[in-house]
Amino acid sequence: MADALERAYAIAREWFDQLDEMPAGATVTAEIMRARLTAPLPETGMNADTVIDELATKVNGGLNNAAGGRFFGWVTGGTLPSAVAADWLVSSWDQNGATFATSPALAMIEEVTGQWIKELLDLPRQASFAFTTGCQMAHTTSLAAARHAVLKAEGWNVEDDGLFGAPILRIVTSENRHASIDRALRYLGIGRNAIYEVATDDLGRIQPAGFKAALTELEGPKIAVLNAADLNVASFDDFATLIPLANEAGTWVHIDGAFGLFARASRAKHHLVEGLDLADSWSVDAHKWLNVPFDCGVAIIRDGTAHRAAMAQPASYIEPELDGRDQMDWTMEWSRRGRAIPVYAALRELGRAGVESMIDRCCTHCFNIVTRIGALPCARALSIPELNQGLIRFERSNASDAENDQFTDDVTYAINATGGAFFTPATWRGMRAMRVSVVNWRTTDKDVDRAVCSAAKILSAKLAT
Ligand SMILES: *Cc1c(COP(=O)(O)O)cnc(C)c1O
Repeated sequence: MADALERAYAIAREWFDQLDEMPAGATVTAEIMRARLTAPLPETGMNADTVIDELATKVNGGLNNAAGGRFFGWVTGGTLPSAVAADWLVSSWDQNGATFATSPALAMIEEVTGQWIKELLDLPRQASFAFTTGCQMAHTTSLAAARHAVLKAEGWNVEDDGLFGAPILRIVTSENRHASIDRALRYLGIGRNAIYEVATDDLGRIQPAGFKAALTELEGPKIAVLNAADLNVASFDDFATLIPLANEAGTWVHIDGAFGLFARASRAKHHLVEGLDLADSWSVDAHKWLNVPFDCGVAIIRDGTAHRAAMAQPASYIEPELDGRDQMDWTMEWSRRGRAIPVYAALRELGRAGVESMIDRCCTHCFNIVTRIGALPCARALSIPELNQGLIRFERSNASDAENDQFTDDVTYAINATGGAFFTPATWRGMRAMRVSVVNWRTTDKDVDRAVCSAAKILSAKLAT
């Protein structure tokens, strides 16, 4: 055992030591990766430490430097030291997080950590929760609870009778939502066609009048899904206006807060998420802005009875929870990883103050990247970030919109090819843009300078041609 672990430790040390020098994105082609990794199923085995060495050699260049401070693609999040180390222990201890009996310590850590998350995000302390693989499954868990509750109110037991013959459910949500909502609805048998899309304003926020009209005009049981925040410009729906409208209509409100829910942990950003605590369920990702390794999301649900009714499953070999939490009563999985342990570690390492400072730092860095790159020739910030996400478009004068779409993509990929920073492209209101996402505790002013420099270098090279 020791040799393999020592090799892994040495490789991880080297990885972390080189984050600042490494290119921000992967550098090898799919062809090279495939050639290196493809092999027939091995007939015979080899030493564990050789396996580890060989693995690290083969993936070299095929890893994005997402743990480093210059990776601004998608919304990925970094990894805090205690969270990485705790994650190693999760694998070493190999506890099954299904029930209290399968790991008493793990059950207790989930109990405590779930409570901490609710406190950190200032959500109802009596709410139930589940540690899921990510926000996608936090949505699925939350919407399963919602499905139970709204159909129960119609006299329908969805756990016993399924959806065949059930009252038709409608989902009222934003045209500007994350596609994981659609997938959760598919998994739950509700289907995409149940979605009623409400129009949004120029920042992608639901228009209250359209929302109100949908709630009044659509018949039957309804669930509303709101954004905290949108992936592109981190805009928040107007919770203080929308949620009371939904409550009046007896509609369950679910919030997609994959990263934006962390605004609740910052006094400077709290105004963006005022009234969000009036909802019925919330999804958030610890593997994004809390900087724990993949994979960890959290579902938080006001009505614990609905949550448990949607998830719990008695089985002959399970003693009901006596001393502590049986996680499988709250999650979609049966056997599962102790994924709350790195969250426990991260919250212990940072404390409330450390989380707040990380959130605020990321927001400042995002503002600086977007406004500084946006001020370069041929560049334009499409919105001024209030949180951690922003968009920049690159445009040549006298070029058509389609040409500038192409130019924007070209510039984005050229910046990535410098290795100085990594961004991902997006489409916003029909236009291509380069998206900036800052969600890593490691990002420094120096990283921001390097990102801006990479963009400046590419733009002056493009302008010279
Ligand atoms: C990332 C993200 C999701 C999906 O989360 P996973 O953890 O990848 O399942 C959903 N909604 C928003 C707004 C996101 O940013």
